[in-house]
Amino acid sequence: MSDQNETPVRPLKVAIVGAGPAGFYAAGQLLAQKDVACEVNLFDRLPAPYGLVRFGVAPDHPKIKSVIRVFEKTAKKDGFRFFGNVEIGTHVTHDELAERHDAVIYTTGASHDRRLGLPGEDLPGSHPATDFVAWYNGHPDAAHLQFDLTGKRAVVVGNGNVAVDVARMLALTEDELRETDTADHAIEALAASNIEEIVVLGRRGIAQAAFTNPELRELGEMAEADVIVDPAEVALDEGSRAWLTRDGADVREQKNVEIATEYSTRTPEGKRRRVVLRFLLSPVKIVGEDRVEGIEVVRNKLVADDDGWLTARPTNETEVIPCDLVLRSIGYRGRPLPDVPFDDERATINNLDGRVMDPETAEPIPGVYTAGWIKRGPSGVIGTNKKCATDTVTMLLQDVAEGLLPTPAKRDEDVAALVAERRPEHVDFAAWKRIDEHEQALGEPQGRPRVKLVSVDEMLEVANATAAAAD
Ligand code: NAP
Repeated sequence: MSDQNETPVRPLKVAIVGAGPAGFYAAGQLLAQKDVACEVNLFDRLPAPYGLVRFGVAPDHPKIKSVIRVFEKTAKKDGFRFFGNVEIGTHVTHDELAERHDAVIYTTGASHDRRLGLPGEDLPGSHPATDFVAWYNGHPDAAHLQFDLTGKRAVVVGNGNVAVDVARMLALTEDELRETDTADHAIEALAASNIEEIVVLGRRGIAQAAFTNPELRELGEMAEADVIVDPAEVALDEGSRAWLTRDGADVREQKNVEIATEYSTRTPEGKRRRVVLRFLLSPVKIVGEDRVEGIEVVRNKLVADDDGWLTARPTNETEVIPCDLVLRSIGYRGRPLPDVPFDDERATINNLDGRVMDPETAEPIPGVYTAGWIKRGPSGVIGTNKKCATDTVTMLLQDVAEGLLPTPAKRDEDVAALVAERRPEHVDFAAWKRIDEHEQALGEPQGRPRVKLVSVDEMLEVANATAAAAD
């Protein structure tokens, strides 16, 4: 067991895997607290840090990305090191990390899609929204993807903020896109898009939609898109009225109803595009011979279960909405990591309040923790990960105080030596900043925050070329 308490001069070495918001918040917490001196080695499989802030947040929401300034302050602290372009499980194993650190925190997020499980889901023209988001945000894994925007109607399945983001991205004007850091390949494709109508499908009613109010409001303020809502589809049934007035009701839901009801009273202005919000419809099949030609949906009614939760039950009423593109936006899903216990049903690392649990013994695995979406599932806004990461760090420090951490076998070996051997192409924070500054310099003459490099090779070239020039 650890002798941390007896030898306070020895800093606690923590590896964090995943440099998204949860990883950076966890690093920030560890380095800000005064009780235990810490060293943090933060790993990411990409040369670019910030995870969902760089590759998930919509490009026309730059304010949300300003949290990067907080992360940059963390990166400047003594004891912080970034190892980008290093994949744990490929270049370095979990055991090799655990042998060289007192604790390992997994903050790998949830970047994959949930599937509908419907016929036609894999027809060309049907895509997970997660791919579309990664594509327009210049994620290196998605830069090669193609979205056929030659048709006139797109259907977005889901009533969360990601569905709103992708609907908005399909509806933005070229001028609006050209102010953002949307990847250049996506700007070109979206600027040439023929899409005239974007239908957003909710399986439950407006009162149950997961949208937050500002996001729903934004759809009604688009320069070149009318928002269209059928009054009959936002008329509340008895169950929804009771839902909105239940104990502990969420004011967000009441506001969403008000916003959508106001939309239903609008006369379309004949703008170039239409965003049509439809409710109480579940997809049952994606229709088409060789590619998407439509989506068959069934009308639902809401039925309260024993806990009062309103679920969608299909009626006999179906319709086919002709369309050319389907974006399935029904939530993200985490992926298992080698040698880390995974709860397949929840798609999260097996954990109790951030302590990773051994499924066989139901006991915590000493020194292994998790935070963020891979701990609790894909919910909440970026800031939600701050509390989540703080909670995990609190558990870790409690375990330190109680002497529960194992003494790592190779504690005195610096992981940097292993990384240098296994992954010479790794990127430290200074190298990332060279890439960052290069991207910003490319964006500056165009009045854009940055022009993103979308291939890892390109990023490495810039990091190395600029480093060589500086030598
Ligand atoms: P989400 O908020 O969980 O929404 C998922 C949506 O998919 C829900 O409307 C859900 O309906 C629907 N759905 C699930 N299974 C379905 C099925 N089989 N058929 C039809 N619909 C189905 O997920 P998200 O939109 O991916 O967002 C993830 C998190 O990121 C959220 O917390 C979100 O707020 C956050 N986010 C925030 C912003 C922002 O702040 N601007 C932007 C993007 C994302 P039910 O409710 O009926 O299950």
